Amino acid sequence: MPIDDELIKLLSDTERFLKQQRELFGDTIDIPRNLQHTEEKLSAPLPKKPASAAPETDLFGNAVAQTPVQHKVGEPTLPAYPQETWTNAKSIEELDGLINRCQKCGLGKTRKSFVFGVGNPKAEIVVVGEAPGADEDEQGKPFVGRAGQLLNKILDAIHFKREEVYICNILKCRPPNNRDPQSEEIDCCEPYLWKQLELIKPKLILCAGRIAGQSLLKTNASLAQLRGKVHDYRGIPLMVTYHPAALLRNPNWKRPCWEDVQQFRKMYDEMKNSELNKE
Ligand code: URA
Repeated sequence: MPIDDELIKLLSDTERFLKQQRELFGDTIDIPRNLQHTEEKLSAPLPKKPASAAPETDLFGNAVAQTPVQHKVGEPTLPAYPQETWTNAKSIEELDGLINRCQKCGLGKTRKSFVFGVGNPKAEIVVVGEAPGADEDEQGKPFVGRAGQLLNKILDAIHFKREEVYICNILKCRPPNNRDPQSEEIDCCEPYLWKQLELIKPKLILCAGRIAGQSLLKTNASLAQLRGKVHDYRGIPLMVTYHPAALLRNPNWKRPCWEDVQQFRKMYDEMKNSELNKE
């Protein structure tokens, strides 16, 4: 193998390993900026920059990312809605219409689509992901790419049809290069999700991945700490499991994910049974 290819492979293997550790242990695992998107960077020509310009790109010519998501552990009270007119929306459709031209953060300028969410507006189950990727940005719908296909299989395996659940994300717009959402972006966008959840009134929430769980629960806990337990989001039971994209990177996590989603299904069945017994 030529030395350049060997170097690219070594760096991207290291990047993949760190990403997997980060999926599990969260922001305590720092992926150095010059180890992010290694393959794209090393195979792309470096952009030209005037010698006097401020160093706003890293060694590989990529924009320097800001601090990734950091939420305080166990915030005592859940944050309140901003005082904006969309907070009075009476339906999911009305909410979509009121927010889908949002320009509150920089992602408004780079997105192709505002990915509001899809599914049954009266769904009992809501699946919350992180942010749209390239396919979702193209099509304007969440989880339609490879990770989405795996999510469909996961839902199918626990006997939920995609049409009967509601699927949405913490961020409605795609972060460039699929980087992690930044805390300011989450702060701007997450209230839209709170309103969606308030209107849908699901009985259970499943968070796909650490970032969705950390954001909704306002915690810095790692995925390893969050998964396998039932949490409470404003009175609604919430579970966190692996993001399907993480499962595509590391198939060893399929087994624990399967355990999580089976627990989720069991919780749903028990809830339905106790509803029936009350009738
Ligand atoms: N990953 C997510 O978290 N959400 C999507 O919609 C697609 C990929």
